[in-house]
Amino acid sequence: MPVDLNTSLPHSARIYDFLLGGKDNFGADRRAAAEIVKHSPSLPISMRANRDYLARAGRYLAADLGIRQFLDIGTGLPTSPNLHEVVQAVDPASKVVLVDNDPIVLVHARALLTSGPAGSTAYLGADLRDTTAILGSDEVRALDFDRPIAISLMAILQFIVDEQEAYRILDALLEPLAPGSALAVSTVTAHNEQAVQGAKAYTARGIPAKPRTDDEVRRLFRGLEPVDPGITLVSRWRPTGPTPDDFHVQMSGGVAVKR
Ligand code: SAH
Repeated sequence: MPVDLNTSLPHSARIYDFLLGGKDNFGADRRAAAEIVKHSPSLPISMRANRDYLARAGRYLAADLGIRQFLDIGTGLPTSPNLHEVVQAVDPASKVVLVDNDPIVLVHARALLTSGPAGSTAYLGADLRDTTAILGSDEVRALDFDRPIAISLMAILQFIVDEQEAYRILDALLEPLAPGSALAVSTVTAHNEQAVQGAKAYTARGIPAKPRTDDEVRRLFRGLEPVDPGITLVSRWRPTGPTPDDFHVQMSGGVAVKR
């Protein structure tokens, strides 16, 4: 099947890949990344801190909360460790559905469908806004909705710039989930000047992005019970080793449970 990558326009997945040192990006992505980094020199450090958080949060969901089913939306290009690797390291029988709207992510994800026989990793090309398509897909319907499911939205909600739309998406995704399910989020923080400038630089390049205050992020978790330490800079969420200075970290987030 031919895939239209539209490589003349920068895409968030490929900008992110380039800034993490990956090879799955094109001239337009690299030019946009170079311009964005002028406004936000700490972005590569921040993205690494976000990846480290993603791994800690995934391990927490699997090991501490005992969740075995995962719906990761805005998966991005493979950058080890990926969520499915983290949670299948805790329990190889974990089931993971990865969702992204970038065709190049889809191409790579097909190569990455490498669970052991016990677990499964499915990939779905869909837009976060189209919650009906996500929840109605064969991949998601194969999950057991009588048991907890963790939804992870890592470094994607900044691209949903309308607050009401963000609430609608979260309500739709969380409504069918069983008690004990969880939501894990990271998104661009408004409490860091570089993050604010970085979001403006994305927006100026045709990728609207919105920084949120911790209060705004907290409101995204309406009705859920945040686990310690609540909503915080991603580097300060249950760190297990050395962390970069707050100055460099442009994402905040947390994990909350549905009771
Ligand atoms: N979750 C990964 C990657 C974040 S990069 C991490 O935290 O490291 C953001 C990803 O979200 C990109 O892969 C991009 O393609 C995807 N994305 C952006 N907007 C989206 C949308 N509306 N629907 C689905 N995926 C989207």
